[in-house]
Amino acid sequence: MAQNYYEILGVDKNASADEIKSAYRKLAKKYHPDLNKDNPDAATKFKEINEAYEVLGDQTKRANYDQYGSANGPNPNDFFRGAGGAGHGGFDFDLGDIFGNIFGGGFGGRASRTGFSPVDGQDITTRINITFDEAVKGVKKDISYTRTEKCSDCSGTGAKNGTVYSTCTECGGSGYVRYNQDTVFGRITQTGACKTCNGTGRIIREKCATCGGKGIKRSNTTVSINIPAGIDNGQVVTVRGYGEAGARGGQSGDLQIVVSVAEHPLLRRDGYDLLLDVPIPFTMAMTGGKVIIPSIDGKLELNIPENTQSGTILKLRGKGIKHLNSNTYGDLKVTVKVELPKLGRNKKAVMQIFDEQFPLDKFDKFNDYNKKVKSL
Ligand SMILES: [Zn+2]
Ligand SMILES: [Zn+2]
Repeated sequence: MAQNYYEILGVDKNASADEIKSAYRKLAKKYHPDLNKDNPDAATKFKEINEAYEVLGDQTKRANYDQYGSANGPNPNDFFRGAGGAGHGGFDFDLGDIFGNIFGGGFGGRASRTGFSPVDGQDITTRINITFDEAVKGVKKDISYTRTEKCSDCSGTGAKNGTVYSTCTECGGSGYVRYNQDTVFGRITQTGACKTCNGTGRIIREKCATCGGKGIKRSNTTVSINIPAGIDNGQVVTVRGYGEAGARGGQSGDLQIVVSVAEHPLLRRDGYDLLLDVPIPFTMAMTGGKVIIPSIDGKLELNIPENTQSGTILKLRGKGIKHLNSNTYGDLKVTVKVELPKLGRNKKAVMQIFDEQFPLDKFDKFNDYNKKVKSL
């Protein structure tokens, strides 16, 4: 995270999205591992480039990175990131897998999987429903869920009181052993997880009753999360370290909360702008008038100017949604839809008034259009 993504891509801090994209493409082509089989550094460089672009190529992540030096936002207990998520970046390196592959499972099965390398806990994904208003204003919510935690009764050792175990004599407590193996390449010395202690370095003499010797237990957790103002339907709030517990010093996974935002009966969202269709009687469209509209600040009175045509968009600046992690707001765009009344029995009388008051030569656009059609 501490790396300067702008330097990695070789672009200016003020570079446009297009400039970043083009810099990324050039570098990705140059360092693609398939094209650099003789250059072992290329893969590392390629990974760096991708990591940088994953952040700078995404408007929200880039804004977070500029502001907080991280793609994830302000503080460790209040992480935000767009749907999809940035992932952990690093790759999992499990020696057990490698031994399993080379030696045809001699070290395989459970023993290799629970080898001495730390295993990070899985992420937990959950969903929360919030109202349109809560999404606009931001809201604090408590989330209750079940996760695996380090067993507190044995401090994660799996042994009663965390003390009733002895050091594994096979491996001297290190959790791994060296052994010789005859392979097609000759005899080689390798290191692998100690089978006697399953890579833990400990022999449990009496199991912890709470967790049955596993060192972890399922428990109900409640976490308080801040959902930032401006969050959109389907976006994800991440709480670091609140996923499943890791094993042997591995990190806990994250809690990923997918936010479901309820629809507003009238307002629709377009990025950070709010859209509203307002039907008005054609008489109001002609003479002007006032309508009440909903907004994020409650109801407002909107002035409809005289002679407003159907489809006119009246823009209320700054009455849209707050940008995530910045203090700017989108606009509220009101589209006027002129409604014509049903004439019914009055038709004849109405037609007569209209013909007198609004002869066809008063309709400029209509006449202009007809002139053009004629000239075709
Ligand atoms: Zn051992
Ligand atoms: Zn326990």
